[in-house]
Amino acid sequence: MDERQTILVVDDVPTNILFIAEALGEEYEVIFATNAKEAIDAATENIPDLILLDVLMPDVDGYEVCIRLKSDPRFDMVPIIFLTALGDHENEAKGLQLGAIDYITKPANPALLRARVRNHLIIKQAQDRLISISMTDGLTGLANRGRFDESFLLEWKRALRSKAALSIVIGDIDFFKNYNDGYGHIQGDECLKQVARCFLDSSRRPSDLAARFGGEEFVCLLSETDENGALEVAESVISKVRSLNIPHANSQVAPIVTISLGVATAHPKDFTSESEYSHLDLLQKADEMLYKAKGEGRNRLCAWGQ
Ligand code: GH3
Ligand code: MG
Ligand code: MG
Repeated sequence: MDERQTILVVDDVPTNILFIAEALGEEYEVIFATNAKEAIDAATENIPDLILLDVLMPDVDGYEVCIRLKSDPRFDMVPIIFLTALGDHENEAKGLQLGAIDYITKPANPALLRARVRNHLIIKQAQDRLISISMTDGLTGLANRGRFDESFLLEWKRALRSKAALSIVIGDIDFFKNYNDGYGHIQGDECLKQVARCFLDSSRRPSDLAARFGGEEFVCLLSETDENGALEVAESVISKVRSLNIPHANSQVAPIVTISLGVATAHPKDFTSESEYSHLDLLQKADEMLYKAKGEGRNRLCAWGQ
């Protein structure tokens, strides 16, 4: 896999593109677009780390492309540098006011272009790392609660639009307080990491999200997944946790670490309006099923409507 950062170059003149490819192509993955539509399509297909944007283009100009990109949450963190023949202060101010990180006039000096691009890409890389850390649970490496909450709301809205089912599987390790008391918190942490792996390995589709919900509670967010699909995931989690075969002498349900799960599915097509049923109601249902599973003896799953 190419680990290099990607630069999208938008310019309607092929010789300009060639010049930039020569200046930057050795260090970075450089992709091209020659008009606004191509630029937005290319950015959507593969979100670049930086965009070099010409201003003067036929049809839609670079300023307009900048406005469109900056108003789309998918691209708002992507730095844009204007690279243009317009050298006056008014245009430069306009470009920067629209949110561009820099403004370079053509003809650009290759060494200066490389240096500026490099500096902005170092910042972009650090920013990406911070974003990734802020969304990840430090102990288990799964998505953290913040990322789950954000994705859940997004997937809920997507499901309302697409009329596809959305399922939740929520799990809580059985008698985990006793595990910590008996084996110590360090081994408790080790156990959490292994159980987290079971949730990750059971969420196999690229759109599935396994997250740490809280202390010893985990959740799978399963978009476009109905009851049967969710049950499959939940059964896989239960059996993977059992297969870990982690001794738990202080559990009242088994001699090994086990988990209880609650499963619930929403069919947005059944809802007449968003206000009647929210994503939190779905979570509440899964939670009720989890407590039912606990009440019925633990080491099992309960699913809404089953
Ligand atoms: P139940 O079967 O009803 O779920 O019982 P339980 O003991 O698992 O439930 P309880 O909620 O009382 O205990 C949760 C325990 O999880 C208590 C807490 O010490 C432990 N815990 C939460 N976060 C962490 C963590 O990051 N590391 C470790 N080692 N333990 C944690
Ligand atoms: Mg708990
Ligand atoms: Mg528990």
